[in-house]
Amino acid sequence: MIRLTRENTAKAVERCKQLKPKVKFIKDRLFVVYSSNNDNVYHVSFDVKNGEKFGKCECKASEKGLVCYHIVAGATVNIYRQGLKRQTA
Ligand SMILES: [Zn+2]
Repeated sequence: MIRLTRENTAKAVERCKQLKPKVKFIKDRLFVVYSSNNDNVYHVSFDVKNGEKFGKCECKASEKGLVCYHIVAGATVNIYRQGLKRQTA
């Protein structure tokens, strides 16, 4: 899993804003992100340890330890969902 920081997600956030990939919620902290460039779909998962966020994707960039826009797309939905949960709790 890749530790997500403001620094290493900045580029992916920009790409995500441009490409606006579709995200489908599977279950808690697990998402499917549809590639904007082709028919690929990627499973993206998240974890939180000691207050730090971690993310994982199936694409080649993520395998190299880079934060891809799929992770950012999933994280955006994940944070949104966490927010909803907090409001209804
Ligand atoms: Zn990816």
